[in-house]
Amino acid sequence: MSFFSTRGGACVTASQSILWGLAKDGGLYVPSMYPQLSQERLAALCGASYQEQAARILRDFLEDYSIAEIEEAVNAAYNEKSFDDPAIVPLKTLQDNTHVLELFHGPTLAFKDVALNLLPHLVSLAAKKNDEHREISILVATSGDTGKAALEGFKDCPGTSCSVFFPHGGVSKMQELQMVTTGGSNTHVIGVKGNFDDAQTGVKKLFGSPEFHEKMNAAGKLPSSANSINFGRLVPQVVYYFTAYMRLVEIGNIRMGQNVNFVVPTGNFGDILAGYYAKRMGLPIGKLICASNRNNVLTDFFSDGVYYTHRTFFQTMSPSMDILISSNLERLLYEVADRDANLVKEWMAQLNSPVGSFSIGAQRLQQIKQTFWADYADDNMTSAEIKRVYDRCGYVLDPHTAVASYVLKNYREQTGDMTPTVILATASPYKFSENVVRSLLGDDAIQGLDAFQCAERLQEISGVPIPRQISELSTLPVRHKTVCEVADMEETLLEQLK
Ligand SMILES: *Cc1c(COP(=O)(O)O)cnc(C)c1O
Repeated sequence: MSFFSTRGGACVTASQSILWGLAKDGGLYVPSMYPQLSQERLAALCGASYQEQAARILRDFLEDYSIAEIEEAVNAAYNEKSFDDPAIVPLKTLQDNTHVLELFHGPTLAFKDVALNLLPHLVSLAAKKNDEHREISILVATSGDTGKAALEGFKDCPGTSCSVFFPHGGVSKMQELQMVTTGGSNTHVIGVKGNFDDAQTGVKKLFGSPEFHEKMNAAGKLPSSANSINFGRLVPQVVYYFTAYMRLVEIGNIRMGQNVNFVVPTGNFGDILAGYYAKRMGLPIGKLICASNRNNVLTDFFSDGVYYTHRTFFQTMSPSMDILISSNLERLLYEVADRDANLVKEWMAQLNSPVGSFSIGAQRLQQIKQTFWADYADDNMTSAEIKRVYDRCGYVLDPHTAVASYVLKNYREQTGDMTPTVILATASPYKFSENVVRSLLGDDAIQGLDAFQCAERLQEISGVPIPRQISELSTLPVRHKTVCEVADMEETLLEQLK
């Protein structure tokens, strides 16, 4: 299988797409086709371990990696040292046909660990395969969770460095502490005086700048991406849609072949796109429900087919979804355009023009709506949902997952579709203790409490022990203190990488 750019031209191998991250024309790499899983192969995934399922899904996409390489990488990424649950992604049932897939049992307590624990192994192998001897300099823009997950994944990984830009003041206290206390000799963390889109646009500009590449090359470095624009981030996420489905078959909630819906708290559109890929591979998925917070640019897009970015950016209690430019949507647009790269290029040019919008037209919108449904929850709705689910089920949702849960409730009320549904739980509530405790007990309950005291309150309420990754943050020294203006990102980075 080869990989194309959504904007045309490129035809590269899997390992090249992973090594380079973004195509030279600014497009995203997409697989030339979707591997098809026959009924027999689907059935064979049932009862298999997470590691086995991952190896089987990955090898269809990563054709220039050997099966032994993939198995080794998978076992190194997913084990009892890196994940605190032997199932890796345990499935919990809230009510008869509502389930939660807990994707937050990795080193940084967010779903991004699933991909970012594997990616460094894939990148190292890719460097070898392509005879690349420069240092692989991973550049990341983060809305909160990617940064820490990438730092942990690449920390002290030979032949690499990892530099993270985060919106200064735009992430939760715990998220910031997690990043700025990171150890390792090859990690850099830089606060940007702007929002996530500023940071992401800044990093994309670097990738698109020949001068920057020249400077890096002169320093013996090859810039690469660990954001979900990298195909190597996407493909590990395809796996857990299969895992969730098989788990439902195993517990007798569905029979093989029956449709399941997924509701996904969405920002950059990577997680839900992985679900779309799973569906294209033959997994029986009914609807993919796209849940946004108040930054509801995707809700509008799925409603009228117009993507419009000139709007107010809101900081919400689900910061990892505070995004107005959803990069991975481009991969869906490529399919919607019947793989016409010129059309995608045109839409992207319109998006980047002063108009700041494009329209896909009524017919294409109709086609998307057969698979996708979208809605959003603002912070008040999110808070109320955290409390509602706790009161009903005794289960504490983090704010991102609560957005998804709220949207599912709306979906069912509006459509009457009671298909068994999996909510992807993307973060541990402990990463957002203040907002979660406030939602459960009210404003007064957190008066005067710091983030760690809130975590203790949350432990009393939920009965789930505080993860070590949270409690240790109160004693770890802050190692990264650099903050820069948006305009100075390149200079600051080059200084750090010296
Ligand atoms: C990154 C993130 C999301 C959004 O995922 P995308 O792949 O960017 O759509 C949702 N929830 C949490 C907790 C995240 O960290």
